[in-house]
Amino acid sequence: MTIALYPGSFDPVTNGHLDIASRAAAFFDQLIIGVYDVPQKYLLFTTEERIDLMRKSTAHLPNVRVESYSGLTTEFAQRMNARVLVRGLRMASDFEREFEMALMTKKLAPDIEYLCLMSSLEFQFLSASLLKEVAEFGGCITDLVPEPVAVALAQKYNVPKIAPKK
Ligand code: ADP
Repeated sequence: MTIALYPGSFDPVTNGHLDIASRAAAFFDQLIIGVYDVPQKYLLFTTEERIDLMRKSTAHLPNVRVESYSGLTTEFAQRMNARVLVRGLRMASDFEREFEMALMTKKLAPDIEYLCLMSSLEFQFLSASLLKEVAEFGGCITDLVPEPVAVALAQKYNVPKIAPKK
């Protein structure tokens, strides 16, 4: 059985993250989505909220499990028996960081493969941070995130949930 780990902050999960998760889930027997529990990093959603939103958003994927973790991603992967780390790669912005992380992962855990999937065209310019800026001022983000996230963002920022213009 091949287990893969898709780690991230997912603050909150977007359709770009889900695109990577569903494509990876189709390749592996089990995909564990690892939600970083990093108290020192400023995040909008708590770890529990990020896990809950991720679980709701991946409920249709039977071989996906969502867990939180802290500490080294490679150590969590080893504890979970994951042989592959999955990451998403958007056009220019992610390459250098992911390349660096891939080399460090190889150094720390040579038995783990670091696999980057190219983001689909429609999600190339979607980032959780930009999404939050738009949502904060009531911009329409409903086609960029799963429904529970659109609701949660509207609640966090105390703005009405805006439906896409027809
Ligand atoms: P991190 O805090 O590790 O950067 P993120 O939650 O921002 O984690 O993202 C987790 C992973 O998902 C990263 O590999 C990131 O490059 C990828 N990702 C983020 N947004 C997108 C997107 N729109 N399309 C594809 N992959 C994405």
